[in-house]
Amino acid sequence: ATQLSTLTQTQLESWVARAQTHTSQGTLPTYIPRLAEADPDVIAVQIQTDEGMVWTAGEISQRFTLMSVIKPFVLLFLLEQLGETVVLQQVGTKPSDHPFHSLVQLQADQGWPRNPMINSGAIALVSLLPGIDATSRCDRLRQWLNRQAGCNLQVDGAMLASVASMENLQNQALANYLQLSERIPSAEEALEAYNWVCCLAGTVADLAQLGLLLAGAAGNILPRSRRAVNALMLSCGLYQTSDVFAMQVGLPTKSGVSGSLLSIVPGAGAIACYSPALNPEGHSLAGLWLVEQLSQALNLGIFG
Ligand code: GLN
Repeated sequence: ATQLSTLTQTQLESWVARAQTHTSQGTLPTYIPRLAEADPDVIAVQIQTDEGMVWTAGEISQRFTLMSVIKPFVLLFLLEQLGETVVLQQVGTKPSDHPFHSLVQLQADQGWPRNPMINSGAIALVSLLPGIDATSRCDRLRQWLNRQAGCNLQVDGAMLASVASMENLQNQALANYLQLSERIPSAEEALEAYNWVCCLAGTVADLAQLGLLLAGAAGNILPRSRRAVNALMLSCGLYQTSDVFAMQVGLPTKSGVSGSLLSIVPGAGAIACYSPALNPEGHSLAGLWLVEQLSQALNLGIFG
């Protein structure tokens, strides 16, 4: 935690103030009506070391849905519960240079999802969650995460209703194709469970706590599972922009269309951001900018 621990509160606050200039260039997603109602100028950050140092800035009481930031934690849970062999029969470990909901990629790969960080991979994986329906599958995951990380995730019912109010043809097509390829038993059930887990919500404090599971400090997680999830976040977590981010920033990172962003500093801590204005690839603009400043100024990148 040596480099992360040199961060000062003044430094963080000045970056958060400067990050504010970036939010006006972003957009809110419209395919989930309730996400489009968010205040694009909100920024919240919590940084936490595995030794218990905490920095916060911005509107940290804001609750937000994790959306795709839940994907690494679905993977982590399944690796711990079912083991690597079962999980890697269901989904690959290769980066994809297509957007997160790409059907083209899934078809080109004959129904074999490239990796767990894109929608096809996550939809395939939620089918493996233990439970009899979407509610119970999501709840098992939620309770395990809350217990392991000491956080307080809750399903955002209003967001879930908003997700269900719109037909998401892309996700439906992915789920149907997965069923057609006999990778999952029911497209409808998988999609419902996927929507539930995407609507798990918390604050940046909850997200930072979750991050510590992957940094290596919290919970009772096998190092092997943690390393696998971090490696896939680095290579696939930001979809088609993962490679450039790995070179520039060098931290395992996952984004969600709510504006959530989580970066792991392995062996040291976690950086949790929320800021809803997105770039064209669907990542939080202010979040990406902040993580880049932090990584460069404090030399956090895992490649030194
Ligand atoms: N639930 C969202 C979707 O599938 C999550 C996507 C994301 O955060 N990139 O559209």
